[in-house]
Amino acid sequence: MIIEKIKKQSQEYGVPWWKLPDMMMIYLAVLNIFTMIGTYWWFSSHWYDPRAAVLVVAGEAILITVFGNVIVETTKKVVSINRLRREFIDIMSHQMRTPTSITRWYIELLLGSKESQLSEKQRNYISSIADANSKMISLINDLLNLINVEDNKTQFNIEKTDLKKIVEQTIKSQALFATSRNITVDFKSGRLRQALAKADPIKFKMALENILNNAIKYSPSGGKVEVKVTLTVDGWLCEVKDSGLGIKQDEKAFIFEKFYRTKDKRKLDIQGTGLGLFICKALISGMDGDIWFTSKEGKGTSFFLRLPKQ
Ligand code: ADP
Repeated sequence: MIIEKIKKQSQEYGVPWWKLPDMMMIYLAVLNIFTMIGTYWWFSSHWYDPRAAVLVVAGEAILITVFGNVIVETTKKVVSINRLRREFIDIMSHQMRTPTSITRWYIELLLGSKESQLSEKQRNYISSIADANSKMISLINDLLNLINVEDNKTQFNIEKTDLKKIVEQTIKSQALFATSRNITVDFKSGRLRQALAKADPIKFKMALENILNNAIKYSPSGGKVEVKVTLTVDGWLCEVKDSGLGIKQDEKAFIFEKFYRTKDKRKLDIQGTGLGLFICKALISGMDGDIWFTSKEGKGTSFFLRLPKQ
């Protein structure tokens, strides 16, 4: 019964059982008992007035109980605010998904239909709506992925995966975006026929898409992005190298943090949520892989994704 309750609370709060606020009460009670025994022992061996011992022990017990309670109550409040925040993001993202998808279908219908009598000006307006709609959809997807990653709900289907094939598919999926920004993307696969890794193909594609998308969006027009897949002793290494703006030294420690967006003035106009790399890291780590980067401001950045070989 109690174990069930603890399990439920631990899931609800998203923390291990030994970190639950109620467990803190138990730690405090144990601390109280030891402090009482210790004080009583010290008094009885140094000072023989039992009334003083009783007073000090009682004072300590009151202090520990009062401060302990304040800490536990504050922790409970923080945990419940955090839970509410997660629930809010979850509900909001799910609710927004349907209307944004419906808007997308109608936009595509309008722009794609041959019969539509739209003037050039009207087409431009609808293209702007399409643009805003895509940003909204990618924000919603990022938020939903964030919730899954934070709640450890992401399911990984690890299987024999050809990374080379996925890199090719990902480059294709980003081709339009690259062309619109006048960036060339090259895949240097050498003589590689296959790159068989132990990975979840969908999650790897998601992570790579984000890295490649960043490489394109943080590169000035005319830039070049190179993707390389090589076999190392530790597994398959996929490198995405750009010749873009780079990452400032003082920002390097934060870019994998949730909601971290750059303070770099040159990048402020570039759209983003600050969630991409946080999600990438969780996805790659969930596949027993590694992700890291090297960067020189003004020269470019290389992101590395390493996954275990099959
Ligand atoms: P965002 O939505 O802001 O792109 P990310 O989590 O994907 O969020 O990236 C976090 C930050 O890392 C970005 O705001 C940007 O400053 C920096 N960054 C990521 N990739 C690159 C890159 N290839 N070149 C330069 N800066 C990058």
